[in-house]
Amino acid sequence: MKTLLLVDDSRAVRLAGRRLAEAIGFAPLEAEDGAEALTLLRESDGVDVILLDWNMPVMDGLTFLRTLRADESLPQPIVVMCTTENDMSRVIEAISAGANEYIMKPFTEEIVREKLAQTGVL
Ligand SMILES: [Mg+2]
Repeated sequence: MKTLLLVDDSRAVRLAGRRLAEAIGFAPLEAEDGAEALTLLRESDGVDVILLDWNMPVMDGLTFLRTLRADESLPQPIVVMCTTENDMSRVIEAISAGANEYIMKPFTEEIVREKLAQTGVL
């Protein structure tokens, strides 16, 4: 079974994401900030896709993404940036930092399926 890592400081979003992951056939993992996600990636057997929040305490999504993409010793999952920001400059910033896709919150199962299909992971 493929694994989907939810990185979000909101417990409610992680819970919704967990249900969504299970509905589309992924085993869910959770982290509440970028630092926890990096630790989890270092210890995991493999993560196929990450749904990544932008605004989080400790380490935000963009910092996490840049750290991940700069570290060749880490697994390199598909990353879908999830945010309430719809500013095009922010989209470009996320994509140039190594995000594969970008979705607006609150995300729906339909949107997540569509984006994961576009990246080839679903
Ligand atoms: Mg947040």
